[in-house]
Amino acid sequence: MPLKPRQGVSRRQVLKGLGAASSLPLIGGLAPAFASGSDGRVVVIGGGFGGATAAKYLKRANPNLSVTLVEPAQTFYTCPFSNLFLGGLREMSKIAHGYDELRDRYGVEVIHTLAEDIDPDGHSVSLANGDTLHYDKLVLSPGIDIRWNALEGYDEAAAELVPHAWKAGPQTELLKRQIEGMDDGGTFVLVAPENPFRCPPGPYERASMVAHYLSQHKPSSKVLILDAKDNFSKQGLFTSGWQQLYGDSIEWVGLSGDGRVTRVDAENREVETEFGTVHRADVLNVVPPQKAGWIAERAGVTDDSGWVPVKPETFESQRVADIFVVGDATVAAPMPKSGFCANAQAKVAAAAIVAALRGDSAPEPYWSNTCYSLIGPEYGISVAGVYRVMDGAIAEVEGSGGLSPSDASPEIRQMEAEYAVGWYNAICQDTWGTEA
Ligand SMILES: Cc1cc2nc3c(=O)[nH]c(=O)nc-3n(C[C@H](O)[C@H](O)[C@H](O)COP(=O)(O)OP(=O)(O)OC[C@H]3O[C@@H](n4cnc5c(N)ncnc54)[C@H](O)[C@@H]3O)c2cc1C
Repeated sequence: MPLKPRQGVSRRQVLKGLGAASSLPLIGGLAPAFASGSDGRVVVIGGGFGGATAAKYLKRANPNLSVTLVEPAQTFYTCPFSNLFLGGLREMSKIAHGYDELRDRYGVEVIHTLAEDIDPDGHSVSLANGDTLHYDKLVLSPGIDIRWNALEGYDEAAAELVPHAWKAGPQTELLKRQIEGMDDGGTFVLVAPENPFRCPPGPYERASMVAHYLSQHKPSSKVLILDAKDNFSKQGLFTSGWQQLYGDSIEWVGLSGDGRVTRVDAENREVETEFGTVHRADVLNVVPPQKAGWIAERAGVTDDSGWVPVKPETFESQRVADIFVVGDATVAAPMPKSGFCANAQAKVAAAAIVAALRGDSAPEPYWSNTCYSLIGPEYGISVAGVYRVMDGAIAEVEGSGGLSPSDASPEIRQMEAEYAVGWYNAICQDTWGTEA
């Protein structure tokens, strides 16, 4: 039915936290794990940016730890650069990463199955393959899950017709097929959510990459972004880049302009906004409201927001001892939910775990983030920040980071596009030890 309108860490501290040699820790309650001959047993759930990094850096810091990574997929497809796949700039195989390096080079035990339940009192994890793993410390990096039906009409069945593509893989490929199948002159409608959500600049990079593809193959087509917010990441840089590269082909409608979508009709590819305007799309891409991956709720570490509050110094859960949570699942603002931050948080958690298992205190952490976005193949922009703990909370260091200049030359934009590729290669190397 069509919709009807209706109403700074010091070097010494880092080395102390990440040093390889270790003496036997003397911590009460951990005896069974040590009796097995290792310096402790750590289970990591989720082999994405946060989990794979944590597993690798735990083993690097102390090879005598037993580290088991639980991840159902044999191949992980990164969301970073999945927009480039949609834009025709990269193959799916070039955003694919496996786990051989973690296993063979770093000695991480990798089990390809789902973690189904966690018993925090018994310090154990039940796996879908029937096994149970015991841990001294647990790292959770399950990423996001979709809040199905939080946006009326957008449930799992609707996502098979109207992809979100906010987890890379089959959803991304479905969206790409739909874009390729669209007639010239059609409208690609992208629905963007309220904060917080995975990758604040992601929807706007996606609109850019789709506009690039359409400019090459279906030049009379349009991109319409319907947004539940009035402001978004790198807004001035995106809007000026859109104007330069795509003229009026990209239209953005924010909250005050009636951009907040309240209902989705997936079968007819229609959406209805807060004040009753109905938009019909030729291709509809909904980036829905999100929450921490469901296993976090099962572990009892989420709060009413659906995300996970953590102790900023270590990323240990505020609610359950010995469970460390990193990546998109956490409440870590002002750090964004990015792959870069997940990677940086994982290193802090790994250092804290290694220190705790030795009976030491955690090193003082700091984190950085740089987030590149491509507006066109040779037009890159970025935002960067440095964060540390101040007055018990994560805060951005004043004067650190910043945005690409608004008046940068085409050469600078091109350089940033090249840096984006360098960043991608470097972070994937650091996380999985693999090149795309
Ligand atoms: C379109 C798009 C573009 C992006 N671009 C960028 C970018 O340019 N730069 C950037 O820094 N970030 C970018 N991001 C954000 C980035 O993808 C995330 O911030 C990052 O993936 C978060 O890492 P994570 O470890 O929290 O989750 P993920 O990387 O999603 O990993 C979670 C893993 O946990 C596994 N898992 C979940 N539940 C279980 C369970 N019960 N048992 C076992 N395993 C489980 C999943 O299978 C998955 O492999 C982008 C995101 C999107 C959507």
